[in-house]
Amino acid sequence: MLGLGFRAAINPVYITGYIKRGFSDTSISLSQIPIIVKGDNKLLAKALTNKNGVFEVSFVPDKEKSFDFFAAYMGFDTILIASVKMFESDTPSMTFLLPAKPKRNALGQVVCLKCRKADKTYKIRYGDALPTTERQILENGDTVYSPIVDGHYNAGHCVAGLARYYCDRDKIRF
Ligand SMILES: [Zn+2]
Repeated sequence: MLGLGFRAAINPVYITGYIKRGFSDTSISLSQIPIIVKGDNKLLAKALTNKNGVFEVSFVPDKEKSFDFFAAYMGFDTILIASVKMFESDTPSMTFLLPAKPKRNALGQVVCLKCRKADKTYKIRYGDALPTTERQILENGDTVYSPIVDGHYNAGHCVAGLARYYCDRDKIRF
């Protein structure tokens, strides 16, 4: 197919996705992982990976600013695996690492997979012994509890999730 880089917005995309391990523990299964695609936080499509970690989704892109792919790993750890602005064709093949390989800015800081910024991105710590919230007093006198403690996002699960970073701007883990 000849591609000029433009695609009529009314055409559906048919995506074949390949989930690969972004970690070294090969005992973890890539089968039957729920995949969720959102455009501007609206649900566009859902799928389950097959036994080889492959899934297929189809939807009609509109004017979404980005398309976000999430994996609901083990049912509790919904993590962003990719955020793309457009698709290369109507039938793209896409490979995703679970979890995604972190990208860093020129200062060596990990940037968010979605907003591409580092200023609200925190490394996630797991462990029940960690405090899961920190009390903060806002300028208007209100008290809020934030899971961001000491420059880290404390997840506090007894089971460690796969997500390694959290963006407080987008409220996503990746
Ligand atoms: Zn972000």
